[in-house]
Amino acid sequence: MMDLVKLWMIGGSREFETSKRPLETITKKGIEFINEGVTKIDLENKVVRTSYRRLHYDYLIIALGVELAPEQIPGLKENGLVLYDINDVPKVREAIRKIRSGKIAIAITGLPYKCPPAPFEAALIIRSVLEETGASDSVQMDFYSPTPITLPAGGPKVSEDILQILKSKRIEFHGNQKTVTVEPNKLKFESGEADFDLLISVPPHKVPLVAVDCGLAQPGKFIEVDRSCKTKFDNVYAIGDVNQIMVTEKIAVPKAGIFAEGEGVAVARNIASKIKKEAEAATFDGKGGCYLETGKRIAGYIGVDMYADPSPITELRPPSADYFADKEKFEKERLEKWL
Ligand SMILES: Cc1cc2nc3c(=O)[nH]c(=O)nc-3n(C[C@H](O)[C@H](O)[C@H](O)COP(=O)(O)OP(=O)(O)OC[C@H]3O[C@@H](n4cnc5c(N)ncnc54)[C@H](O)[C@@H]3O)c2cc1C
Repeated sequence: MMDLVKLWMIGGSREFETSKRPLETITKKGIEFINEGVTKIDLENKVVRTSYRRLHYDYLIIALGVELAPEQIPGLKENGLVLYDINDVPKVREAIRKIRSGKIAIAITGLPYKCPPAPFEAALIIRSVLEETGASDSVQMDFYSPTPITLPAGGPKVSEDILQILKSKRIEFHGNQKTVTVEPNKLKFESGEADFDLLISVPPHKVPLVAVDCGLAQPGKFIEVDRSCKTKFDNVYAIGDVNQIMVTEKIAVPKAGIFAEGEGVAVARNIASKIKKEAEAATFDGKGGCYLETGKRIAGYIGVDMYADPSPITELRPPSADYFADKEKFEKERLEKWL
């Protein structure tokens, strides 16, 4: 939920300190919480190691998420702010409130990345902040992406809908722009370059090293599983951002909390069935959705059915105050349910 809050922090409606929840509360559900980094996963001996202890497992669910890897693009971190980095979020907020004129560039610099609509939401929220500060007419906003359309996972129709929303807010989308390096005030693409006064980027993501070291993931890739989330190792599952589930040859389940939750529930049910020696009947259904905030407490809703027959369905329901209220409710319900 912390990721979702980052955009509200940029908009100025939330503070980090008031959005945190202690994970220790899960102990109330009879789950021991060990706040230690995993240093090694020993799949042969069924042991997870931290700096201080060895934990034996019968079933293992890997839910390590992804790590941000801005270092993969030379100059990215040094010459701009990283949208998904909690340390940079307050700086983004400050910078957009200070800017009076010039060019803001928002660049997706690696694929896949978490929550595909989030950078567009960020751009729209930034535009609405600029409208509040009175700088909007003097600030040009450009959005650069390595993909040809805004949201390939959503298909051409949803991508066109998002493009039109961006256009209505004078945010220019530039597709097929693969960032190679960043210099002061300059993005360099595979072909061409672009100037900016303020750069806000989505950096490349990588799988945590412990998942590579134990052989669960190939270097440079995520843990490949199907919708059962079973890895090739006995009783070892991978859920959430750390995995990659291909639905068709070209389309993967997007990295989003709603899908991490669905995968987690299915895996948990199947492990419980296994322990009770019952059939494993649960499957990750691939259904979900996320909100596309457009600023000023308005949001659209992107509904997704990854396993629809014959191919995934995604639709964008038009922005309204009701969907924004639903987004707030979504956060509240999840916090109450899980924490
Ligand atoms: C700006 C933004 C907005 C978003 N908005 C939405 C939204 O509206 N809806 C939605 O569905 N999704 C949204 N997402 C995506 C969502 O946040 C992620 O998909 C989700 O958090 C993935 O859950 P996860 O459990 O797989 O990984 P994470 O939530 O990243 O959790 C992984 C955890 O593992 C820990 N970890 C990693 N390595 C180790 C180690 N070696 N030892 C111990 N612990 C370790 C990490 O510290 C982390 O706490 C958004 C993302 C961003 C960036």
